[in-house]
Amino acid sequence: MKWILIVLFGFFIVNIFTYNYLQKKPIRQVQYIISKPKVLLIQPLGDFNQSLAKENLKSLKKNFSSTRLLPSIPLFPNAYYKPRDRYRADSILKFTRYKHGIDTLMLLMTHRDISVTKNRIKDWGIMGLAHSPGNVCVVSTYRLDKNKLTEQLYKVSIHELGHTQGLSHCPVKSCYMRDASSGNPLDEEKEFCPSCEKVMENKGWKM
Ligand SMILES: [Zn+2]
Ligand SMILES: [Zn+2]
Repeated sequence: MKWILIVLFGFFIVNIFTYNYLQKKPIRQVQYIISKPKVLLIQPLGDFNQSLAKENLKSLKKNFSSTRLLPSIPLFPNAYYKPRDRYRADSILKFTRYKHGIDTLMLLMTHRDISVTKNRIKDWGIMGLAHSPGNVCVVSTYRLDKNKLTEQLYKVSIHELGHTQGLSHCPVKSCYMRDASSGNPLDEEKEFCPSCEKVMENKGWKM
C-alpha cells in the first residue's frame, strides 16, 4: 500500500511539472517577442523615394526616438510573384524577421505592389503586413493617395507597427488600427484611440 502511494505521488508531481512546462513555455515566448523594442530600423527596398523615406523617419522619430533610416537594399527576388508582377509580403517578412535580433523592430518600405493570400484569394493586394506580435512589418506606397503620400505612408506605417506591438484591428473609425478592409480609409484615421494608445505607450512609444 505504501509503495502504491509513493508511485502515485511521484506520478502526480511529474504531471504537475509537465503541465506547468507546457503551459508556461508559449506564454514566456510571447512575452519575449512583445517586450519593449530597443530600436526601430526603417529599411527602404529597391529605388524607394529617398526624401519620402526621410519624411517618414522624421514623423516616426517623434513616436519612437531610437529610430534610424538604413540605406536601401534590393527587393528580394525570391518574393517576386510573376503572374501579378508584384511581391509577396509574407515572404518579405520571412526573409527579414531575425536579421537584426529580436528586440529590433523593422519597418520595410517599397513602392512596388505587395500581396498575401487572404482566405480563398490566392494573391490579394495589400498596403501593409506585419507579424503580430513580432518585430517586422512591410508597407507599400502603391495603393496610397499620391497627393497625400507622406501623411498616408506614416499612417500605414504606424498601423503595421501597432500590429508588431500586439495590437489587433480596432472598431473606432478614427483610430490608426482601423481595418482597411478592401479600401483606403486612411483619411478618416486621425490618431490612436485611448485604448490602443495605452498599449503603445506601455511599450515605450510616445503618441
Ligand atoms: Zn491591419
Ligand atoms: Zn484603437
